[in-house]
Amino acid sequence: MPMTGLAAATAKHRIPVIDRMMDVLALLERRNDGASIRELVERLDLPRTTVYRILNTLQLHDMVRRTAGGDYRLGPRLLALAARAAADIGGVDLPVLARPHLERLSAATGEACKVSVIDDGALLVCAVSEGKREYALTVVPGQRLPLHAGAAGKVLLAHLPAKELARILAKSVNCEHGPTATPDNTCHACVAISAGSSLDVIEMDAASQRGIDDIREIRDRVVL
Ligand SMILES: [Zn+2]
Repeated sequence: MPMTGLAAATAKHRIPVIDRMMDVLALLERRNDGASIRELVERLDLPRTTVYRILNTLQLHDMVRRTAGGDYRLGPRLLALAARAAADIGGVDLPVLARPHLERLSAATGEACKVSVIDDGALLVCAVSEGKREYALTVVPGQRLPLHAGAAGKVLLAHLPAKELARILAKSVNCEHGPTATPDNTCHACVAISAGSSLDVIEMDAASQRGIDDIREIRDRVVL
């Protein structure tokens, strides 16, 4: 799996304000009801003027919207971007492949149906077909949901290789904002776990193996 997020980029070729903008968007991603400027300033440890300018710029591009109460939420422009981003997963156009099957399922059951994959520790919705019921499923392609919070995430978690599962659990336990079911994927601990350089994950992986050789290898890699 390719590295994602901060681990994939070198500091030399990064633009700090875009990193900060992504921090703002990532925090809003985890807040269904939006977040206030004060919360963003406190959680991201950034100057208020920086957060304000980022939000103002994002608002001009419809990437965020202000609620009636003055909080900020992710904006509808992201839906168009997400629909394109989700269209190619691992070289496979999953939405196109899935569509006829989803539509047949929806026609047979009257229910909304979706196809999701695990992406960077979250559930990524790739394709959706509408149901016939009045209160149908409201997820949209490109939406990211917590893995623990629905049947699809649980099914995918149940069949993950032990090492990938250990990585996801380790983020929940070790995230600087944790223990939490929704690790931020951006703190030092999360980035180290994503990059495979966290000892906690190596140790948990050892627990999932039974060979004594595995333990020897782990012991050799631990620097005391
Ligand atoms: Zn974290």
